[in-house]
Amino acid sequence: EAHNDAVAAATDLNAFIVATPDHALAAADKVDADRAAGKDLGAMAGVPIGMKDLFATKGVQSTAASHILEGFVPPYESTVSQNLWDAGAGMLGKLNMDQFAMGSSNETSYFGNVKSPWRKNGSNAAMTPGGSSGGSSAAVAARLCPAATGTDTGGSIRQPAAVTGITGIKPTYGRCSRWGVVAFASSLDQAGPMARSVEDCAIMLGAMAGFDPKDSTSIDAPVPDWAAALDADLSGKTIGIPREYRMDGIAKEIDDSWEQGKAWLRDAGAKVVDISLPHTKYALPAYYIIAPAEASSNLARYDGVRYGLRDLPEGSGLQDMYAATRAEGFGDEVKRRILIGTYVLSAGFYDAYYTQAQKVRTLVQRDFTEAFAQVDAILAPTTPTPAFALGEMQDDPLAMYLNDVFAVPASLAGLPAMSVPATLTEDGLPLGLQIVGKPMDEQGVLNTGLAIE
Ligand code: GLN
Repeated sequence: EAHNDAVAAATDLNAFIVATPDHALAAADKVDADRAAGKDLGAMAGVPIGMKDLFATKGVQSTAASHILEGFVPPYESTVSQNLWDAGAGMLGKLNMDQFAMGSSNETSYFGNVKSPWRKNGSNAAMTPGGSSGGSSAAVAARLCPAATGTDTGGSIRQPAAVTGITGIKPTYGRCSRWGVVAFASSLDQAGPMARSVEDCAIMLGAMAGFDPKDSTSIDAPVPDWAAALDADLSGKTIGIPREYRMDGIAKEIDDSWEQGKAWLRDAGAKVVDISLPHTKYALPAYYIIAPAEASSNLARYDGVRYGLRDLPEGSGLQDMYAATRAEGFGDEVKRRILIGTYVLSAGFYDAYYTQAQKVRTLVQRDFTEAFAQVDAILAPTTPTPAFALGEMQDDPLAMYLNDVFAVPASLAGLPAMSVPATLTEDGLPLGLQIVGKPMDEQGVLNTGLAIE
């Protein structure tokens, strides 16, 4: 009966695209066998996790929630998923997501939107689990799995974690290998864990991270034992509050939650000071030039020849096959990104848009470098609003893009950033707080998060 209830709950949320219970069971069996043989168990031994469908998993369909990759079964395993299996984890299934990780609500998936397990008090309207890692956030929030992988290009771990009351960390760019992860915007994409607690995130990130010669931007540095060094005592630490994040029209409940976060950090011994990140307001527009530019290039590989879907109209040639396959295989949001990307990269507009956006990116990075001369970490809201109802923003791409306004600056700067559950709104919806750290200082981010948790 419990099993049937669990299946019903899972089906209702639409969090999984495919289920792989045998994979998880094999990991559990291996724990028994290893224990009997007196072998050391890995950090993730027997833990049944969900895998965002952006990761290539050997022998298991991997689609990025797109039609164009439907039926694609990779003959290889992504480095991050392989690292998790090596640490003893097993896979419950592939998690639904926004198509090609483009979106903030999970409504761009070819396999239908994911529902959050949360509802507003007194309402039955289905809420967004956030995106793009919305299958991951919904599955963990609903306790369908204790942890899941996510990826974050411009907030896709932090925003869904925030609106579903769970914890998620995007590590420093280069900590986790991108090899075998379907590419969206290669200079921004990072994998990370989404789980119920800071400690679970620390353990799982430890298993995921590490140098990989197969990813040219992978950082060749040892992976610290973050879980062992967790410490919520922030005596001697200084936390910065960026004044530019107090934007016009920021909801009062977001502001209250931020104030509460500051109080918790003071209680933990930290000094809390105001800082300035002057180029914050240019980060979102720059992101929505750089990310689509890289996406338009990365997505050129889906040509109807190499992967998944092929549409070859009767009596037609190669060009027709490209056009038909891509017209049918990509969703509207993906096409919008490809059009924006090819436009800003085109000869006549490259300097006006792409070069300009890259300059802004440098200024945003410089803001952080200057701030980190004075503070150890930065505290800000993760999102400008709590979860919204499904359908509410679907027809307004610009309103949807604004969900990422607080998440994108850390992405452009490649910094480690985490969302931890903070407070509830009057309607009973969860709000998250974001901690941004210095390059490679995941420990400082995790410890600050622990003081809030
Ligand atoms: N919502 C943002 C976008 O649509 C971020 C996505 C992500 O981080 N993968 O681009």
